[in-house]
Amino acid sequence: MRKLLIATRSKGKFPEIIKALQGLSFEFLNLNDVKEIPRDFEVEETGKTYQENAILKARTYGKMAGFLTMADDSGLEIDALGGKPGIYSSRWIPGTFPEKCQKILEMLKDVPEEKRGARFICVIAIYDPDKDKTQTCQGIYEGQIAFESKGELGFGYDPIFYNPDFGKTTAEISLEQKQKISHRGKALEKAREILKEFIPHPESMENGEQNKILL
Ligand code: IMP
Repeated sequence: MRKLLIATRSKGKFPEIIKALQGLSFEFLNLNDVKEIPRDFEVEETGKTYQENAILKARTYGKMAGFLTMADDSGLEIDALGGKPGIYSSRWIPGTFPEKCQKILEMLKDVPEEKRGARFICVIAIYDPDKDKTQTCQGIYEGQIAFESKGELGFGYDPIFYNPDFGKTTAEISLEQKQKISHRGKALEKAREILKEFIPHPESMENGEQNKILL
């Protein structure tokens, strides 16, 4: 079975990615499974866009591993903060995620509901070292910054990312539901299509698609 490196150390992202790629015939590996990549090695995110950072991570880890590698870069854009923190979402405020969330709530404490728009963006890059080729895809999840932190599910900024259609924060939405609506879920749907070109045996694909190949 062909190997696919999921190049993230995020404990929140990994289960979302694995769940979305279920059924695809790959041996999924994480960064800790690849001995050529030291445990403390981290790609420095020097890109100016999500796409540049996702490509940088996929190519760097993929070249070290020597097999197909997928990496993502994501971020939260808050209208009331002029689109910040964007690509700097993990590093712009020091502290734990509950602290970062609290800080955002304070920054937006006088902002009315109609101006609390925000979105998560996710770009996925898939690097094939055999052809030295990278493909990318993107997903966007629109919502609002809540007035208070709520929910225990998900990770990162989920407790303050309010989904008006559900009337809940993203940390109150199950992983299955989050997959259908989230930036990463949407990007992963497109990534599935890209990844299928790397599966050599049609029988390893989902029902229906076998026929397309066999005909
Ligand atoms: P990076 O993609 O690892 O650079 O992380 C981007 C930042 O956005 C991290 O701080 C994440 O915690 C946050 N983030 C990305 N996706 C999500 C999500 O689905 N929910 C909550 N926070 C997220």
